[in-house]
Amino acid sequence: PPQGEVESCTRRKVKRLLSFQRYCHASRLLRGLVPHTPGSLHLLDDDYLGQAGHMLSKVSAWNFDIFLFDRLTNGNSLVTLMCHLFNVYGLIHHFQLDMVKLHRFLGMVQEDYHSQNPYHNAVHAADVTQAMYCYLKEPKLAGQLSPLDVFLGLMAAAAHDVDHPGVNQPFLIKTRHHLASLYQNTSVLESHHWRSTVGMLRESGLLSHLPADMSQDIEQQLGSLILATDISRQNEFLLTFREHLDNQDLDLQLASHRHFILQIALKCADVCNPCRVWELSRQWSERVCEEFYRQGDLEKKFDLEISPLCNQQADTVPAIQTGFISYIVEPLFEEWQRFTEPSLLSQTMMGHLHKNKARWSRLRFTHPTSESQMQPHVEEDPEPEGGGGGGGGGGGGHEEDVP
Ligand SMILES: [Zn+2]
Repeated sequence: PPQGEVESCTRRKVKRLLSFQRYCHASRLLRGLVPHTPGSLHLLDDDYLGQAGHMLSKVSAWNFDIFLFDRLTNGNSLVTLMCHLFNVYGLIHHFQLDMVKLHRFLGMVQEDYHSQNPYHNAVHAADVTQAMYCYLKEPKLAGQLSPLDVFLGLMAAAAHDVDHPGVNQPFLIKTRHHLASLYQNTSVLESHHWRSTVGMLRESGLLSHLPADMSQDIEQQLGSLILATDISRQNEFLLTFREHLDNQDLDLQLASHRHFILQIALKCADVCNPCRVWELSRQWSERVCEEFYRQGDLEKKFDLEISPLCNQQADTVPAIQTGFISYIVEPLFEEWQRFTEPSLLSQTMMGHLHKNKARWSRLRFTHPTSESQMQPHVEEDPEPEGGGGGGGGGGGGHEEDVP
């Protein structure tokens, strides 16, 4: 490309880099300059890719180990998973997608997640996508969904947290971050995830061959799905969902009702960590709390009031988790189970949820807050956990934890 073009492109990237200065390491520019530490895996290692391929044959298993999958794909879990699912559903053929553009788009999405975030990184996106896939396969839903529904569900899941800075909305508001004023302190992060996705869609040209009204509709629906993940709107969605279930008036022939269910499914996928087998669930819990604590440390450093859940001394992992499960996860999944009934997957998820909740509340009282730190890696709980999440989805089906 001509010199001027390269320069303006670099300037644009630098501008972006400055917008999240603390997180500048995540910028594509910087990653290009700093060579990736290769670790023990090589991108083209046939054996690892072979094992990743084997895992994909069990991608619908609820005990699918996304952490292992990410290691086997050398950090490309999101791109690899999305390509696989697009093939499974025949979406490339159906929407006449250009494989090069699809790869470019997915690569951009994956790269724009901040790999140094303990929680809100591309592995979380891949995990939510895998959960979404499981929900799209629910017998209640699978037969009713159009290719467009599936496309939207997977795309929204993959992109729903893209470019997440690792701090929450109140933090952006009190530090007067430009995104907060841009989105008027409302669904600031979610709006940013959506608009970033739209930007990458347009930059990659993935939908450029579709009629304008169709690509516009896709952008709007992606927005409505991603914005539904704003946890502060949880009650609004939960009440509407409950009302529909009480009145038994959901009609999945209607595109608007299917869209609502996709919103709920994405919300479920986003907070399903406590419904996973303990070994996976525990890792997510530690990661999300670590991200909270880092925000708390930042707040301390800048003499700001420490946000709720962000004080490592006062807010322990078990305390945060029991609260999160009781107030957010359990109420939502109880309704999801009602909707999907009879569903083997929902039964499995509720089983894990109750066991994990009990386990966290036991840990809460065996590790009083005064103690410096719980030691989650030390096996102190004698209760055996079937499977342990290892091996990446072995066994297939959802019955992996049945004693
Ligand atoms: Zn998320």
